[in-house]
Amino acid sequence: MVKSKLKRAVAALLLLASVGVVQFGLAQPAQAATWVKPVNGTLGQGFGGTCSGCHHGVDIIAARWTPIYAVHAGVVQTSRCGSPNCDIDGSPQTSGCGWYVGINHPDGTGTLYCHMVQRPEVSVGQSVSTGQVIGYVGTSGNSSGPHLHFQTHNGASNNDNLAVNPVPFMSARGVNLAGGSTPPPTQPPAGTYWVDTFAAAPGSATPGGAQTGTLYAGRNYVYCRVWGPNVQVGSAFNHWWLKTDLDSGSPWQNQWVSAYYLSRWGNDVAKDNNGNDIPGCAATKYTVDTFADAPGRSSPGGAQTGTLYAGTNYVYCRVWGPNVQVGSSFNHWWLKTDLDTGNPWQNQWVSAYYLSRWGNDVAKDNSGVDIPAC
Ligand SMILES: [Zn+2]
Repeated sequence: MVKSKLKRAVAALLLLASVGVVQFGLAQPAQAATWVKPVNGTLGQGFGGTCSGCHHGVDIIAARWTPIYAVHAGVVQTSRCGSPNCDIDGSPQTSGCGWYVGINHPDGTGTLYCHMVQRPEVSVGQSVSTGQVIGYVGTSGNSSGPHLHFQTHNGASNNDNLAVNPVPFMSARGVNLAGGSTPPPTQPPAGTYWVDTFAAAPGSATPGGAQTGTLYAGRNYVYCRVWGPNVQVGSAFNHWWLKTDLDSGSPWQNQWVSAYYLSRWGNDVAKDNNGNDIPGCAATKYTVDTFADAPGRSSPGGAQTGTLYAGTNYVYCRVWGPNVQVGSSFNHWWLKTDLDTGNPWQNQWVSAYYLSRWGNDVAKDNSGVDIPAC
């Protein structure tokens, strides 16, 4: 396979050479760029040579989910996981390229793209065009944060021994990896919104909860927002919390960061980079069985507004509040829910005392999962 491909490449080169002779001295027609930058980002670690264990390419730092482009037309030679496990992006592996793609180009060169966030968008044998999206930036494999590891080879994309410094390689083809020609920005992943954050933001499993990881400063995407605990530094503050996927940590998906880290908007504002309000997150409902009719209240322990009938009900979340005790049975948790009767009936509170199957000061749903804090 590879041999015949190389033969074809050599034949193509000879053909080009002869055409070049014929056309010598003639003006060339204007052409679209045939080589482009592989990703919008900034250069990090440089080329370290071809020795074993050396850095065979350059690192280009970019936010997770930034599109990665084929720098030139070609045929996909490799599209796979090059590490023991690529399932958990952000959980660094001791070796390998993570999810990666290798492309062989008609001029006999090859390019390699590593550490993608998920399975590549192209498969082996597929023809790709210049600038085609082949995957998205991540940190799978042996990687300490989201970036593209990019290699250029004077030969097949799967032969590290033929790696050359990508900076002069791409410069000779009209592309400045340190800047210059970059493909146009594209949309964030479906259902998400771009936001620029001015500093590394701690992520947590619930708004204001214990830190689970970090969202790096830069262009990031978020899913939605909820109102929560205030985060204040000096006179800047924000009660909004944004659901997002972190750059590092465990768990890293569907975590929360404060909208305090949005760089361009004022206090208690949570807009995306286009100036549009980030939409509210749909409330998650948890199923609970209650053993008796429960009085619903406007606040935990507050005035009764209505009744939640006994049976299978849903609740949104819980807060710690005034104790409700009958005999030896008691519970300090209060559950936000929608009542069956009363006015108002939405977003009212009932005591977790009415949960039928759990013990004192426990507030779990019917699956045994702790109902999350409001
Ligand atoms: Zn690298």
